[in-house]
Amino acid sequence: MSKPVLGIIGGGQLGSLLSSAAKKINIKTVIFCDDKDAPAQNFSDDFVFGKYNDEEKINEFIEKVDLVTFEFENIPFNTLNKINQVKKVLPKPGINKIIQHRLYEKDFINKCNFRTVLYDSVKNNTELKTKKNFVPGIIKTCTFGYDGKGQYKINSAKDLDKINLGKGKEYIIEKFVNFKKEISVIVTRFGIQKYEIYEPIENVHEDQILKNSKIPAEISNEILNKSKNWAKIISETLDYVGTLCVEFFIDKKDNLYVNEIAPRVHNSGHLTINSYNISQFENHIRAVCGLEKKETKKLFNAKMINLIGNDILLYRNKKFLSNEFFFDYLKKEIKPKRKMGHLTIVEK
Ligand code: ADP
Ligand code: MG
Repeated sequence: MSKPVLGIIGGGQLGSLLSSAAKKINIKTVIFCDDKDAPAQNFSDDFVFGKYNDEEKINEFIEKVDLVTFEFENIPFNTLNKINQVKKVLPKPGINKIIQHRLYEKDFINKCNFRTVLYDSVKNNTELKTKKNFVPGIIKTCTFGYDGKGQYKINSAKDLDKINLGKGKEYIIEKFVNFKKEISVIVTRFGIQKYEIYEPIENVHEDQILKNSKIPAEISNEILNKSKNWAKIISETLDYVGTLCVEFFIDKKDNLYVNEIAPRVHNSGHLTINSYNISQFENHIRAVCGLEKKETKKLFNAKMINLIGNDILLYRNKKFLSNEFFFDYLKKEIKPKRKMGHLTIVEK
């Protein structure tokens, strides 16, 4: 069988890194993105610029590819569903429908019998005022939030009166967890009971944006096994195909909570490019394209630092050691809080 041409919806850094990984194994990629400056076009074989509900552009994209995947979860469900009727979309659009909505996502995690933070739905300002048992907490939009966007901290009951929610939007309120640390587990599922699971990654966030990640995570063996097992069960229950990430909190009493699921490759897994024989990106492509599953092994311990906003300027002209790997996402404009690149340092 000749290798398929893979369509990727979304053209940011994840799309770029997916395209680069595909190139390595001789798979051609076409990026479809609603940003004409999408950085991933620098790394893919072809690019279609169009809105995610523009039927003509969607058709142009579908014509060029054999199957479709995506780099972010906030794609309209109808778009994915329509594409899936013509060309296979993996992971399945139905999975996205659950995970792109923070309430459905948390309900699903609880149905799996895994612990989450205490949460509730909030529809308007009047309802918000009644949520005193969630202080301190966080209010988040149910859809379209990422990197802390659409999130507001609630430090005292007064904040419940001050915050003005957008009309017609759905929100989730969560109790704040005073966590000891955050970890993530990345799993690539190839089909029924067929996985490669990366070891847990320890993550530090600043202003709700990932700042750095490292392996090994400093956690107990019990947490290590439990987090890997939960990630495996989540991917199996969803009948997922491809790479998925589960983000966890660990509290001061060593309780494990699922924070959220990302139905895609994940920023905390960037270090797998240089520290494993097969990265989360290559495994995603292998799984969705139906290629053979290969044993995935860690080669080095590693640390990844996200370069956010102006950080990138310090690195563009820097000389690097042989164990340092710098990635510039080639985004046209530097903006505060924008992920511009990353650096991975492996322990050789
Ligand atoms: P995003 O989709 O933006 O990644 P998250 O829900 O993962 O949204 O929130 C981003 C970060 O904010 C988390 O990784 C964590 O550091 C912090 N955070 C979010 N929710 C909570 C919570 N309920 N308690 C404590 N910290 C939280
Ligand atoms: Mg998150």
